[in-house]
Amino acid sequence: MHESMSESVLSQILVTLADLKASQELLADKVDKIQADATLSKDDHLLHKAAHYHHSPGQSDSDGDTIVSPTFAMDVNEQAGVYTDKPVLTTYPGQKNVKPYKMNWGEADSQARGPVVVSRLPESMNIRNAVGAYGGPYSIYRSLAIAMGDLPADHKPNFDNTHPPIKIKQAPQWSDPSKIVSMDPFGHLTSELYKAEIEQGLDIRPTIAITRAHMIVPELQAEVKSGSMKVDGRVIVSENGELNVHKAAVDPVWYLPGVAARLNVDEDNLRRSLFENTGGMYPELITRPDIKVFLPPIGGLTVYIFGNHELLSDPNTRLTVRVHDECNGSDVFGSDICTCRPYLVYGMLESIKEAQNGGVGLIVYFRKEGRALGEVTKYLVYNARKREGDSASKYFQRTENVAGVKDMRFQALMPDVFHWLGITKIDRFMSMSNMKHDALVDSGIKILERVPIPDDMIPPDSKVEMDAKIAAGYFTTGHIPCAEELCRTVGRGWDEFQA
Ligand SMILES: [Zn+2]
Repeated sequence: MHESMSESVLSQILVTLADLKASQELLADKVDKIQADATLSKDDHLLHKAAHYHHSPGQSDSDGDTIVSPTFAMDVNEQAGVYTDKPVLTTYPGQKNVKPYKMNWGEADSQARGPVVVSRLPESMNIRNAVGAYGGPYSIYRSLAIAMGDLPADHKPNFDNTHPPIKIKQAPQWSDPSKIVSMDPFGHLTSELYKAEIEQGLDIRPTIAITRAHMIVPELQAEVKSGSMKVDGRVIVSENGELNVHKAAVDPVWYLPGVAARLNVDEDNLRRSLFENTGGMYPELITRPDIKVFLPPIGGLTVYIFGNHELLSDPNTRLTVRVHDECNGSDVFGSDICTCRPYLVYGMLESIKEAQNGGVGLIVYFRKEGRALGEVTKYLVYNARKREGDSASKYFQRTENVAGVKDMRFQALMPDVFHWLGITKIDRFMSMSNMKHDALVDSGIKILERVPIPDDMIPPDSKVEMDAKIAAGYFTTGHIPCAEELCRTVGRGWDEFQA
């Protein structure tokens, strides 16, 4: 009896197995057919071209074509004309024709390092050595323009006369893969250094642009007009308060192993989190562990240099620095709930004075709105603060209630731009943030003096934030409030200005 039962179970299992095998073969046939459909004759031509660009030691080829969506039978976009028949969802290392262009992060020689190739245009598709897209968040607007037919998908920029007006001296830090992990140190020289590749048809773009400009800041203009700041013809160039400045815009380029090390997390864990928490936006974060570079769709930073840029890396020249994280409400629109614009203006004022005295002034402006929590979260927190009685003792808790954390700026990546500029020492650091200070010092940059914002520049309503920050470890030369005092530091309630 036992025997017959187990026999019947066994035969059932065998039948099930046979069914499984049959359906698997059917599925494999379907996938093969889809892949054959997706392979355009154009592809073969382009794959041939891609092989031509391949300079790095090859990876073993294996069978398996481009991975396409089996359910997304899209027409080739007539306007774009350059997409494959069906969208390529992802690629795998060692896949047929997939041969990433050389990318040796941390190489001192730009040719040995190799350009960042991230474009999914047919010429680059199989040789990309980076995940993401050029242009940070603006890659999304670019997508809209292409979808609307305003921009050809294969538009190649004309880089004539776009090169930097000043030279940033290559520092030893450029080739220290532990010093620079969140920007491409050759990013401003792309169109010169990789001219040959661009002329051969590769879509390679600068991730840094440097220019020179004049600027007028009302608060500083008032200082010039009142006579407390003097026109010197070099930094302040007119009685109207015009300022002479060099500036650099930097898009993020992340070397993932370096970013993971900096944040003290496992690289696989970082890749998985980036994939999952961006709606699965970049599957190659998971499927291409061989690709180490990622261009995230986030804002970068802008550098403003007052004075002689050539002296930035000179340890014998005095350097005043303000590291500022974006706060649109205060920086641009004058909100008085925080000290952001006043501190930024103070940073510029002291930077200009330093430059006028023969030193250099530097402002680094990061697009990390609302402690990198974003403006929506920030306003939600403002509401909670104002409705529940705004006090310094509850300041950080309000943010944590909404965002889950106090801060997401992760200053660990911030020092990279200093290493790019070759800076090893800061004389005057115009910031009270212990996080910014510690990140710079931990990365090997000396800070000789920390300069808090003067009391008379702090708007009354922002005392809540200031006291809370000082109590939490921000630098001050003044009094550190105790718990009881924090309860007494209160901001304006809403009733004061309700119409
Ligand atoms: Zn602010």
